[in-house]
Amino acid sequence: MAVFGTVFMPQMALATFVNDEWTDTEFVSADSIQLHPGAHVLHYSSTCFEGLKAFKHEDGNINIFRMDKNIERFAQSSRLLNLPEIDKAQVEKMIIDIVAKYASEVPEPPGSMYIRPTHIGTEASIGKAAAPSASSMLYVLLSPVGDYFAGGLKPLRLLLDETGMRCAPHMGMVKSGGNYASALPPILKARSEVQADQILFCPNGDVQETGAANFLLIDGDEIITKGLDSSFLHGVTRATILQIAEDHGMKVSERDITVEELLERSAKPNTEAALSGTAAVLTPVGTFIHNDKEYQVGNGEAGPVTMKLRQALNDIQWGKAEDTHNWLVKVPN
Ligand SMILES: *Cc1c(COP(=O)(O)O)cnc(C)c1O
Repeated sequence: MAVFGTVFMPQMALATFVNDEWTDTEFVSADSIQLHPGAHVLHYSSTCFEGLKAFKHEDGNINIFRMDKNIERFAQSSRLLNLPEIDKAQVEKMIIDIVAKYASEVPEPPGSMYIRPTHIGTEASIGKAAAPSASSMLYVLLSPVGDYFAGGLKPLRLLLDETGMRCAPHMGMVKSGGNYASALPPILKARSEVQADQILFCPNGDVQETGAANFLLIDGDEIITKGLDSSFLHGVTRATILQIAEDHGMKVSERDITVEELLERSAKPNTEAALSGTAAVLTPVGTFIHNDKEYQVGNGEAGPVTMKLRQALNDIQWGKAEDTHNWLVKVPN
C-alpha cells in the first residue's frame, strides 16, 4: 500500500474568489494549479486546510463523517487568517460532488477516502506582508487511504516539551500550514535525540497537543482532556471520542492538566493515554519522555478503553453501529 496521502484522484473541485465573489465550482485536473510566483500564500502563508473522511458501507453507499464540523472549522480558519469568507454551502456541495464522482474508488473499511479541502491566498503582491490577500483559491482534493495501522497499533513515545510551543499562541485554532512548519524543527530533534514519535507540547507545564493530534488521558472510567481555548486545534475526533465516552457512561472532564498530574496519573496501572485525529483515529500512547527520564503509561501497551472507544468510533463510521448522533452524511448515488 502506498504511503498515506501520496495517491490522489485525477480530478478535484475548485473555486476561486475574485472581484469580491466566488466563481462557480469547476472540476479540474488534480495534477497542478497555476499560481503567480508572487502569490500571497507562497510568501505570507495565507493557507488553511481540512481533513475529513468518506466511508464505504456494506450496502455500497458512501458516507461522509461530520462534514458540517469540518466546514465550520474551515470557515473559522479562513476568517482567522483574513482569507476571503468561504461559502459554506458551496464547499459542502464541492465535497459531496467530488466524492460522488469517485464513489467507486472509495476503499472498503478499514480504508477510506481522505478529503482535503484547501484554501490559499493567491493575490500576486509581495507588498502585502501585513495585509490580506484579496483573491483566493479553494479546492477539494481526494486521496484514498488504506489501513493506517497495517503494521499494528504500536503505542507511541511522546516527548513532553515544557519550554517550546507548537505555534504562536493566537494561531492554535487555525489549521494552517505555518503551524506545522513551526512545529517541525523540535519534532525532528525529538525524533533523532530521544527516538520520540511525537512531541506533546506542554508550554509552562500546560498539556496541550502534539503536532497534528489532540491528547486524551484515560484514568479508569474518566477521560480527561484540555478544555477548549484558543491555544490549540479543536479536533473533530476529540469531540467525537468525548461524546462516545459519555455515551458509554464514562465521566468526561475537559480541563487543564499539568505535566506533574500527567506523570503522577500515568504511574497507575489502569491509566491510558491516546492521541486523536482524523487520520489516526485514536492511537495509544505507551511512553512519556520528560527531562531525560522515561515513564511508562499504565502497562505501556494499548489500553482496553482506548481500543474500545476506537472500535466504537470505527463501527459508526463503517455503518456497523447505529449513527445515533447523525454524524454521517450519505452521498447521493
Ligand atoms: C487536524 C489536527 C488535529 C485533529 O483534528 P481532527 O479534526 O480530529 O482531525 C489536532 N491537532 C492539530 C494540530 C491538527 O492539525
